[in-house]
Amino acid sequence: MSAEKIRCDKDTLLAKSLLETPEVKRVNRWIEDNEDDKPNSIRRHLLSTSVRLSPQISPRLHKMAQHCGDVLGLSLPLELYAFSDPKYNAACFKPEDGRLYIMFSSGILEAFDEKELLYVMGHEIGHHIYNHHAVPIGYILRGKARPPADLALKLFAWSRYAEFSADRAGAYCTNDLDSVARALFKLASGVSRFAAPNVDSMIEFDLNEFMSQVDDMVDDDAHPGQGAPTQDWFSTHPFSPLRVKALAHFHESALMTAGGYDKDTLEVQVNGLMKLMEPGYLEAKTSDARVMRNLFIAAAINLAELGGGISAEEREVLQQFLGKTLDLKRLDADQLAALLPQRLAEAVEQTTRSQRMQLIRDLSLVAQADERACAEKESMLKRFTQELGVPNVFLTQCLGREPELD
Ligand SMILES: [Zn+2]
Repeated sequence: MSAEKIRCDKDTLLAKSLLETPEVKRVNRWIEDNEDDKPNSIRRHLLSTSVRLSPQISPRLHKMAQHCGDVLGLSLPLELYAFSDPKYNAACFKPEDGRLYIMFSSGILEAFDEKELLYVMGHEIGHHIYNHHAVPIGYILRGKARPPADLALKLFAWSRYAEFSADRAGAYCTNDLDSVARALFKLASGVSRFAAPNVDSMIEFDLNEFMSQVDDMVDDDAHPGQGAPTQDWFSTHPFSPLRVKALAHFHESALMTAGGYDKDTLEVQVNGLMKLMEPGYLEAKTSDARVMRNLFIAAAINLAELGGGISAEEREVLQQFLGKTLDLKRLDADQLAALLPQRLAEAVEQTTRSQRMQLIRDLSLVAQADERACAEKESMLKRFTQELGVPNVFLTQCLGREPELD
């Protein structure tokens, strides 16, 4: 089976459309022009900061890399590196000079067993096989020129599905859901030792218990105000129990188990899981969606008014969110400002915390539409964040934007 057959459909679709976007094309041209000046920069950087894990130093890792390469149809030779960092981390670089580079933190090499590392390695090679580096998400989101809001949202969505594809590649190499889930548990919790006959540990690993965390998050969405989904809910990397659940579906499908359901059914299930992260309040007709929309309009107009009236860039972003049907000129900023406290209170009463987090994320995009009155906008956003009961660190994440494909 080729790796393409297990790739997440939404990843394929969104990547294709992103690569045709003028903005993405422009950034890619810029990267290409600048790369010409620095040949072999990745390898030189790795050789000077990390330790190369040659086949002599780690024959086992190389055997594993060979296995992942064979399974996923990798056509390039691999070079593996270790760098000093107690955190669990690994990354795959864009190939250079016909070689692919993967680096592992010392933490992950010491804490993960062979099968868990197989998953990590397969995941990283998956990013390369699926050409995920072709979408320069970091450059666009962290660049000086802010991307249009719809492009930013599309990039966030794509990167989550891209992670799912890479996860499937890793799971496919490992072929053992329990080990894959352990690896994700270790990554999410930082805990590396589980209780076993000869191992003393506070933690016993339980796959179903770990996955049940997703069900609790769903419950929280059904009962606003209870429980607390973490800020990971909206980060680029899908929340770990969600990834495990998506991988459990993958293992049940015909892609991994003879007689399992087909890929279309699998994708429907995965899209259902992802919907938890993207409730589309701007179009939905439910009463909580109406509350969110009303608050979004009042808050966004108030943010945009800071710095002296709505600028052309802000108008553009607002219209991407609200559509052309809403006539911005007919909105009365003073009236909306007076309505704000009531609309904030309604949102707290009638929406879930993850819905409010989405509001903050969307308002952050409005606030960053232009360069005017940045400090004032940030403090207004801080006030919204606080009043909506959203952790401040989530706002920092929205404004800092540090999604990384690793
Ligand atoms: Zn990844």
